[in-house]
Amino acid sequence: MNNKEKCPLCKKISTPQFRPFCSAGCKDRDLLKWLGDGYRVAGPPAEEAIIKNNNDDV
Ligand SMILES: [Zn+2]
Repeated sequence: MNNKEKCPLCKKISTPQFRPFCSAGCKDRDLLKWLGDGYRVAGPPAEEAIIKNNNDDV
């Protein structure tokens, strides 16, 4: 048994300071990856379609 965690990015042994990553560099890279995914999710607002449907009932 060994309870040493591995860095999810480069598979090196993680350090307690930057868990679960091995270094500040890998931690930053993971953070940037998540931020990049967030910026790409930009869909049009659905509110306009709902308002039009309500007007049809009048
Ligand atoms: Zn790493």
